[in-house]
Amino acid sequence: MSTRWEQVTKLIERYPDLPPEVVFKEDVLRTGLAFSEDALRIAAGYQPKAYFIFSFDLVPIDQMPNREHLRVPEEIGLVGGPNDFRRTVVSVRVNPGSPYRVGLSNGGRLVLRLEDLEVAEVLYPPRPSFYGQTLSSGKSLMEIAPVIEWGYLIYLTVFRLCQYFGKEEECRFCDINENFRQQRRNGRSYTAVKTLDEVLEALAIIAAEDTAGRAYTLTGGSVVTRLDGLDEADFYARYAEAIEARFPGRWISKAVVQALPREGLRRLYDAGVRICHNNYEVWDARLFSLLCAGKQRHIGRDEWIRRILEASEVFGPTHVIPNFVAGVEMARPYGFTDVGQALDSTCEGLAFFMANGILPRFTTWCPEPLSHLGKHNREGAPLEYHVGLLHRWRCLLEEFRLPDPPGYGPPGIGRAVFSVSSFMDVIRPNGVPVDASPAP
Ligand code: SF4
Repeated sequence: MSTRWEQVTKLIERYPDLPPEVVFKEDVLRTGLAFSEDALRIAAGYQPKAYFIFSFDLVPIDQMPNREHLRVPEEIGLVGGPNDFRRTVVSVRVNPGSPYRVGLSNGGRLVLRLEDLEVAEVLYPPRPSFYGQTLSSGKSLMEIAPVIEWGYLIYLTVFRLCQYFGKEEECRFCDINENFRQQRRNGRSYTAVKTLDEVLEALAIIAAEDTAGRAYTLTGGSVVTRLDGLDEADFYARYAEAIEARFPGRWISKAVVQALPREGLRRLYDAGVRICHNNYEVWDARLFSLLCAGKQRHIGRDEWIRRILEASEVFGPTHVIPNFVAGVEMARPYGFTDVGQALDSTCEGLAFFMANGILPRFTTWCPEPLSHLGKHNREGAPLEYHVGLLHRWRCLLEEFRLPDPPGYGPPGIGRAVFSVSSFMDVIRPNGVPVDASPAP
């Protein structure tokens, strides 16, 4: 039985044209991070984890022995160290039992270790100056308008619940509703529906003080019936409309919505949204109907895909960036058990969208324990899957000669800031087209 370090090293050797940093990054994302008491104490001076939408943790809050949910940083940067890492930004997913641990070196530096071997030095993200501010409602600005991706993205989860509710409708990998309940239970101020006024007030403060933010994302749960008397398109469009009226063109505007009919997509575009994320979650038809039962019942996979193509006519293909949850196609008890088959299925979907000029991207699946799949999966998909996916995603991007996805900041290792998967880290400058055949 090889050690975890040996498994990582083998994959680095197998994919010599991928940056080695991303192999560690994906392994940290699928496994989670532990923090020593010193590392937690130091984090107090930096940007805390805001729980911007889901929990993205591998244990529930009530199983965190050191109140990590209130103390860990939003992200870490891996840099230098024995492997001479170029700065690599990784989202923090709490797992006190993880073999990856942030602590202090003998010389007092913050370092990430795997099985007691140093991986890299660790940076914490600077605490945004505006995080300490309180809005006129008494809520903290951090709750209403947190930032992620090392300050690049303002993350506006304006609806912290989803109208797909319960086992028969919620996406099985998603803990949005359960996370809302656990955050409230644990005393965090967590707003179900953010008002336009509080969002605009928070953005006015950010606009006056901040120089790092370049984009905002409007997001939240699906609206299946009505919310505030509005359908999903109107509900999310009203925020974009107000933001763009008040701060025209100040940030790149993005929205995560279901695959809406053309009128709804048009409504968002007219409101000022320029990048549309109609997340398709998983490509395989059987898995889509099992893992996204609510979406299957209300819209259906074929119609979902057709509407993504329609979105490309409204926003322009490269401004349609549907997400999928990388690794969930291997989740027990429904998923593929063979890494090659899982990759083939996912890459069929990637090739389909990319052939239409659309830019699918992914987040690395975190089996949150309060999600339905979390009950069957204590850890994510094999690391081999995630590294293979990065390789094949980049091959296809280059084969179809597509541009870097807009709205994600600078591409490439050492520059990328996208923290919940490594697709931005693996982009090569002037992408050299390569054979898109399966990785070795
Ligand atoms: S549509 Fe699915 S993934 Fe999106 S918030 Fe609802 S349950 Fe979660």
